[in-house]
Amino acid sequence: MIALEKYHLSEEDEKKAILREYRSLLRALKNRLKKGDKKLVRRAFEIAADAHQHMRRKSGEPYIFHPLAVARIVADEIALGVTSVICALLHDTVEDTEVTLKDIEMEFGSTCSKIVEGLTKISNVVETKNTTQQAENFKKILLTLADDPRVILIKIADRLHNMRTLESMSRDKQLKISSETTFLYAPLANRLGLYEIKSELEDLVLKYTETEAWEDITKKLLETKRERTRYINEFIKPIKEELEKNNFEFEIFGRPKSVHSIWNKMKTKHVTFEEVYDLFAIRIILKTNSEREDCWKVFSIITNHYQHSLERLRDWVSAPKSNGYEALHTTVMGPGGRWVEVQIRTERMNEIAEKGLAAHWKYKEGNAGQESKLDDWLKHIRELLQNPDSNAMDFIQDLKRDIFNDEIYVYTPQGDMRILPAGATALDFAFDIHSELGKTCIGAKVNYKLVPISHVLKNADQIEIITSKKQKPSEDWLKFVITAKAKSRIKYYLKEEKRLIAADGKEMLIRKLEHMKVSTQSSNLHEISNYYKYASPQDLCYAIAINNFDLKELSKFTVIGDKIFAPIQEEKKEIPKEESQEDYQKALPGKGYELVLFGESSDKIAYKLANCCQPIPGDDVFGFVTSGEGLKIHRTNCPNAATLLANYGHRVVKAKWAKNKEISFLAGVLINGIDDVGVINKITNVLSGELKMNMRSMSIDSKDGLFEGNIKVFVNHKKELDELCRRLEKLEGINKVIRLDAE
Ligand code: MN
Repeated sequence: MIALEKYHLSEEDEKKAILREYRSLLRALKNRLKKGDKKLVRRAFEIAADAHQHMRRKSGEPYIFHPLAVARIVADEIALGVTSVICALLHDTVEDTEVTLKDIEMEFGSTCSKIVEGLTKISNVVETKNTTQQAENFKKILLTLADDPRVILIKIADRLHNMRTLESMSRDKQLKISSETTFLYAPLANRLGLYEIKSELEDLVLKYTETEAWEDITKKLLETKRERTRYINEFIKPIKEELEKNNFEFEIFGRPKSVHSIWNKMKTKHVTFEEVYDLFAIRIILKTNSEREDCWKVFSIITNHYQHSLERLRDWVSAPKSNGYEALHTTVMGPGGRWVEVQIRTERMNEIAEKGLAAHWKYKEGNAGQESKLDDWLKHIRELLQNPDSNAMDFIQDLKRDIFNDEIYVYTPQGDMRILPAGATALDFAFDIHSELGKTCIGAKVNYKLVPISHVLKNADQIEIITSKKQKPSEDWLKFVITAKAKSRIKYYLKEEKRLIAADGKEMLIRKLEHMKVSTQSSNLHEISNYYKYASPQDLCYAIAINNFDLKELSKFTVIGDKIFAPIQEEKKEIPKEESQEDYQKALPGKGYELVLFGESSDKIAYKLANCCQPIPGDDVFGFVTSGEGLKIHRTNCPNAATLLANYGHRVVKAKWAKNKEISFLAGVLINGIDDVGVINKITNVLSGELKMNMRSMSIDSKDGLFEGNIKVFVNHKKELDELCRRLEKLEGINKVIRLDAE
């Protein structure tokens, strides 16, 4: 890492520092350098250093530190080769300097220039602010991915370095870059098997979007480190002895989980830091040639010592994840009745888990099995992208589902394995095999039992698809397929079907118009479809074909010459239309109006507080211009924030709270503890007695000696809510107090 203080250095020292970075890059590449490679890397460094000579980063340091750092990540953390390092050094030159793609092609050949071209395209895509749909941009990024995966790997390295140095950026840049990272780059890193990088990206996002939580967890991890180390040693000791006795060559150690994953658990399970039981995992890395056999031997040694939980055994050794991950995971009951996760891997599996599948792909001596898996995925992406009709936003959502979900392994009648996202149905399976099979699917036999097409598949199911030539895709199908491939194909067929039906309707319409002596030019067709508020003449024709529109209606129209005119409408009927950029500009009071101060001048701009996160003064917030409901205020840590910021960046308005004691906001608190006669009394005492708060409602449920309550209060500021939580927590018998996000 480069210290930010660098920019206080003299020119001479700065040069030395740059050379130092360059030399450590060469060291990182050391055993990957073939004859003549060193010269090429040197040349790329010189060109980049020269081109960026007069540029500085936001932090003040010379710009060249950035490409050097990205190249270093590419070499060290993703384990790519010389070509990728050269491209990483040059990745910002074409975009920001005089260097051209032609120059790069002449010096380094067409592979390098193509990769740099891809990187330049991506950066153009992301920087564009005036596109209405950022999703369309993300789709373009994925297209480049399908060309050469190195493009996206270098882009991920670029993003990682930008996240590591986000400190010096402005607050809104921090939020924008963080949300793109959550939305696209972290899932991609995950999908490409770059687990280390994915975790670091997520932790950094958390640091900038949920600073308080991040600091809190980091601090607590540090405070509990000693106790954890002691426990881990106690846990490891017998295992280690046994492994040594059996002559295994191995490493065994405990490893804390990422801040992000701990935070995620606290949030989704509503537990405190102290209640997260798996703050760490034990990892065993074996040096062996009989991989599968030894992994299972180690598994049996561990489970001889500690009771294991059958439901939590994950065997990614027999069936690797589609991103290439291989390991055996089990959860066992450790000393003191604590559940402990143990991960068993070989050295080769560990390398894949840390540096991703791509490192083991074409650019290194290939492993045929791995290669085909990444290729399969790229092929899958290409197929999805080829559907010209798919709406970019839907596409990204579908794809994200594919990327995020857990996977299940199912089999064809011939015993071929297919990997599908968890929750996939028989119909998803049919489409996964072939679109033709999906299109005509009427049912399936799962493990020889007949099931409907909507049947949700389970791990290890064997599926035989039953088809009929008469079958046709229907709108309903979209309700139960979950894979992107099935969705996009079904939508395509439905559209195609509609187009065919509409063609019949169009014939009927044309006959009618000819009869009225009206020409069939498109302006006439639009005049009619607009009057009846159809989205297009095609929709009108479709309605005619399915008898939803009576052609007799046209007698209301006036004919002049060969033109047709709609009857004058009493009240001005608004034609529904897509929201455009102009509408958005109008919705804001003048350009350059960036800061909404509300609470004080709330009458100037109407706004609503988003229901999904219920912000109150003191929360970090932003405004979002919605299509129908004006300005909505969200917390920056709202569960929807990442999607909104990443896709509709142009609709985001900076917002901050102004002082105001008169306006109060409704906030909810969840509370639980031991049921006791006096407890309600104590709570109300704190609320109305000590804090003089205005309570709207309180509901308490109790069961088996425990109670859970839900309190709604009006507050002026987050501080008041924090104070309330603090005091309630201190009451005897109260176990936990959490702020509620939404209803
Ligand atoms: Mn860059």
